[in-house]
Amino acid sequence: MLKVENIEVYYGAIHAIKGVSFEVKAGEVVTLIGANGAGKTTIMHTTSGIIKPQTGTITFDGKDITYTRAHTIVEMGMAQVPEGRRVFAKMSVKENLEMGAYSRKDKGSLEADYDMVYERFPRLKERRKQLAGTMSGGEQQMLAIARALMSKPKLLLLDEPSMGLAPILVDEVFNIIKDINKDGTTILLVEQNAHKALSIADHAYVLETGKVVLAGEAKKLLNDDAVKKAYLG
Ligand code: ATP
Repeated sequence: MLKVENIEVYYGAIHAIKGVSFEVKAGEVVTLIGANGAGKTTIMHTTSGIIKPQTGTITFDGKDITYTRAHTIVEMGMAQVPEGRRVFAKMSVKENLEMGAYSRKDKGSLEADYDMVYERFPRLKERRKQLAGTMSGGEQQMLAIARALMSKPKLLLLDEPSMGLAPILVDEVFNIIKDINKDGTTILLVEQNAHKALSIADHAYVLETGKVVLAGEAKKLLNDDAVKKAYLG
């Protein structure tokens, strides 16, 4: 479904991504793990079209999207939940969900999708009129995921969904990610919580200073001595 080949990204003189390749097959959960500054967010933004690579190719659903604009990529079926949630604080929960459906052409089936999202996130239904900025961190994370689901993505990009959440909420968020995947959405997950990410992923890539240093089946990496030592405490 997604193939990223040999991308290089510079911020001015800073060579942030140095020839990274990875693949996400339909139906999978694939995770990119690595320390602060390894380049995870940059790769996410490059995949979703917000940043353009200097070299390399990105193919989504069989089409070259390397130079496709971000909003077109959303229309093609890729949605991103950015790091730090970034819900529209001054809008209600319902309005945030409406924004998520903005690019949809099939507006007729929207009501059924609100129901689907409210079923998955009952708390959002209770609070649909509340201003998003007044929700708790966990609730905002749920809303950010729900908003992305309203675009009916084939591929969902999640950037550090567990960041800043209490452990019990981290578990809840990871359970929701597993459920979304079970229901047919392919997932690319960027995480610093390597243990959690590897436990739900099919494949994983370990990043260090803009390069992939290790890749393989997530279950194998979970038991890999070098990974354990560096990322699993
Ligand atoms: P974190 O987990 O802390 O978000 P990350 O793995 O997502 O880290 P990136 O945010 O992608 O890493 O950053 C990769 C490198 O690129 C870092 O060295 C960072 O300082 C640099 N970088 C990121 N954004 C910019 C920018 N806008 N201008 C200059 N350098 C940047």
